[in-house]
Amino acid sequence: MLKINQIAMHYHIARQSPASQFIQVQLTLDCRAGETIHLQLAAWRPGRYELANYAQKIRSFKVHHKELPLKWQKKSKDLWYFSAQETGTYQVTYEYYCNQMDAGGCWSDDIQLYLNFSNFIFDVKERSNEAISLSIALPENYQVATALPNKGHGRWEASGYQHLMDSPLLAAVELQHFDYQVAGHQFHLWFHGEIHFDIAQLIKDFKAFTKKQIEAFGTLPAEHYHFIFQLLPYKHYHGVEHAYSTVITYGPASALAQKSELDELVGVSSHELYHFWNVCRIRPKELIPYDLSNEVYLDTGLILEGVTTYMGDHFLLESGYFSLEDYLKILQKQIQKEVDHQGWENQNILESSFDLWLDGYKPGIPDKKVNIYNRGALIALCLDLMLKSGESSLSQVMKKMWESFGSTGQGYVLDDFYSMLCQSTENSQPIKAFWEDYVLGKGELILPLTKLLANIGVRLTFHDEGDTILHAYGIRKDENGKVLQVHPEADAYSKVMINDLLSYDSGMSKSDKADDLEIVLERQGRKLETIIYKGNKSLYPKVKLEILQKKFFAIDWIKNY
Ligand SMILES: [Zn+2]
Repeated sequence: MLKINQIAMHYHIARQSPASQFIQVQLTLDCRAGETIHLQLAAWRPGRYELANYAQKIRSFKVHHKELPLKWQKKSKDLWYFSAQETGTYQVTYEYYCNQMDAGGCWSDDIQLYLNFSNFIFDVKERSNEAISLSIALPENYQVATALPNKGHGRWEASGYQHLMDSPLLAAVELQHFDYQVAGHQFHLWFHGEIHFDIAQLIKDFKAFTKKQIEAFGTLPAEHYHFIFQLLPYKHYHGVEHAYSTVITYGPASALAQKSELDELVGVSSHELYHFWNVCRIRPKELIPYDLSNEVYLDTGLILEGVTTYMGDHFLLESGYFSLEDYLKILQKQIQKEVDHQGWENQNILESSFDLWLDGYKPGIPDKKVNIYNRGALIALCLDLMLKSGESSLSQVMKKMWESFGSTGQGYVLDDFYSMLCQSTENSQPIKAFWEDYVLGKGELILPLTKLLANIGVRLTFHDEGDTILHAYGIRKDENGKVLQVHPEADAYSKVMINDLLSYDSGMSKSDKADDLEIVLERQGRKLETIIYKGNKSLYPKVKLEILQKKFFAIDWIKNY
């Protein structure tokens, strides 16, 4: 029977065997006679613009009505459907394999059940906006971290598919909970795993960057926000943003006793909180709402991840967590990455953003693309420095983005961001020229970066550091002599292959010039001898950032306005 004023869609989750890593899912829904129900599983999840094809982790799919099995079919790899013969309650049951421990996956074992609903719940196409109730059979001693509204022991409720799929849940025997308040909002810190740092100090640091971020946007439309941490015993680093929470996986947990490692944890936390506004609410039009059934092509990776990476770190500088020296070290690493790859010669950041679906999350072929996080952060830095020279700032532009496209739920296109940048300064000419060359174009970003940093008294220089094979001949190899990378401008580019095994004897030289390098290569079991000529330019140089005390305008830079 159809129940009026009652939630007609319910998920129940149980585990017959935690160690098998399978969960048993039962979706109960009320259908009308003759109605065809389409069950769409996500092919990807918010925050990662890459196909995950979660359907491969589903087994034993069945539909029942009055305890009798019903015929169902698939329309595509992740779209199931069935027809209801008569009005009444139907059960869809299946098993999902929870074996992916990262910030966006699902995991089950003897001490926890960790769920990202985006992986395994269906968007019931005929019921997308209907409320969903949820129950999970959990051991009595489990605690639960989630932003989902709680409706009693083991019961929660979501306003619809988009809400449930965007609200991860971690249930575990040992979960540590802390909280803090900023401007009337409550922030929850949930830790699963060992804590090897001073929690009181961490809360102070979180409070400080949270306060600065809320001030920058002027508002945070949420009563509660949850940081859910999986502190793992092995090396790991991942964070995923959600509307009212974030999951951060980090390891090894014991390494967080060191400040440099804790910096990474605090860094990703600030980044994910910034996503509360930028991405979760200030969203490209294409992502409103999330259509997880197919690729959604985006040219806005610069804003989604570049601006967030830059601002996340910048708020740690502004809140006093990072000293200027700490911050310059991060910036130096980012610039080093930019210098170590030539992908920018072949693809601009818009093209690399569009291609995220293709190769955005793997190394890919040599020098084909740019990293939207790293190059995006450096472009954001350049824009911020240009804006600040004219009494504006990137933070102010993002506040306007929030007011026009975020708080309104309207969504933006790339040109909206560009227009806001231009409008926010009296002299928009430098911004326009920069956009043309380094966002739409494939310019060498180091050039404007050097200039803009010099304007605030930070000197960017390059130098060679011992490794002659790298700097003089453009060959990067590992400790066994295996070639990892060859610079496209090097003579070696036409002679040395990636994965060649390189050996050389500096004592013998067939060449007349002392600078020429005679090498022996092992390639696919063959031995080759060749001479590599030295170029007149230092390749893959080391980056150095220094503060020129007399000229330094730290306040102008640190302050977000
Ligand atoms: Zn991000």
